[in-house]
Amino acid sequence: MTRDNPERLGGCLCGAVRYCADGPLLYATHCHCTLCRRASGAPLVSWATFPTDGFHFIQGEPTCYASSPVAQRRFCPTCGTHLTFQRRDHPREIDVTIASLDQPEQVVPTNHTWVRSRLPWVHIDGHLPCFEGDPL
Ligand SMILES: [Zn+2]
Ligand SMILES: [Zn+2]
Repeated sequence: MTRDNPERLGGCLCGAVRYCADGPLLYATHCHCTLCRRASGAPLVSWATFPTDGFHFIQGEPTCYASSPVAQRRFCPTCGTHLTFQRRDHPREIDVTIASLDQPEQVVPTNHTWVRSRLPWVHIDGHLPCFEGDPL
């Protein structure tokens, strides 16, 4: 753990599932896609992407759901907090819900993705880049 590469801890609402993401932050985005919306029950989900090899669940066992043929989402089986997203075609990266971090204010999203699916009453303030779909 260094100043530029802080160990980041997080977990679910009930505390049963805890994780550690100790790699460098790769990306952070607000995702407006319909799958994130359904999975979270929220209008958008803010994600931080870390290297998979620095990410570990340190307590509890999340439930895994294949939300599409290429992606898996993990959440707490007790309280339902949405924790991670991982694509089969990007196995070296894992997305973590910023809001489940213990210090979510330390990870600041730098863009919006899937804005073509944005709910019309979600207003984007305009200073961040917007991508119609997935920029990757
Ligand atoms: Zn929980
Ligand atoms: Zn999404």
